[in-house]
Amino acid sequence: MAKPAARGDRVREIQRILDETYPNPKCALEHRNAWQLLVATILSAQCTDKRVNLVTPGLFRKYPSVADMAAANQDELAQDIRSTGFFNNKAKSLIGAARTIRDNFRGKVPRTMDELLNVPGAARKTANVVLGAAYGIASGVVVDTHVQRIAQRLGLTKNKDPKRIEQDLMKTLPEEKWIAFSHQIILHGRALCVARKPKCAECPLERLCKAKDKTVHNELSSRRSRRPV
Ligand code: SF4
Repeated sequence: MAKPAARGDRVREIQRILDETYPNPKCALEHRNAWQLLVATILSAQCTDKRVNLVTPGLFRKYPSVADMAAANQDELAQDIRSTGFFNNKAKSLIGAARTIRDNFRGKVPRTMDELLNVPGAARKTANVVLGAAYGIASGVVVDTHVQRIAQRLGLTKNKDPKRIEQDLMKTLPEEKWIAFSHQIILHGRALCVARKPKCAECPLERLCKAKDKTVHNELSSRRSRRPV
């Protein structure tokens, strides 16, 4: 049937362009190991990666190990991470995560989705970030606000719920692309496909994009596609 083949071709072309535009994409949260990445990811909720990267070096100097964080005073820790927002909840999650990892996983961040989901503060998105970026394990696709928005704009999902979007992406993308794809889309969301007024005229995916809120007129798009290459 022609339709699925055409969709497959379009998805492959999107991946090709993403690989060309954002080669070797990396997680923007600075970390030296899985524990540091877990901490940074918990702190990144409702906060920019840039802000988290300003806070974590001092935090890891003060609490160098899982055991140090497990023994932290919650009020003091909350002040240490205050600038990342929601600091009381995050401090509670960090101490809970450290204690769970110390007591149930011999001080090592677990390597499976099921185990990680038992760690306080680690929902599916956090677990996917840690497994993918720290261990290279493709357990799913990270769906943050950038991936949510851009997967919809590119017509890769019609869903709004992150769990359903992840399922759609896991069905659509080959498993070996799951980790890189979310990093690339996050970079694209920061550089061009921003939430308001995406910079479609500069976007290498523009001819493949079905977004209703594209800022390039269809007329311009079709003129471009008629240009000799
Ligand atoms: S064409 Fe515009 S809306 Fe579509 S992916 Fe590119 S920047 Fe985003």
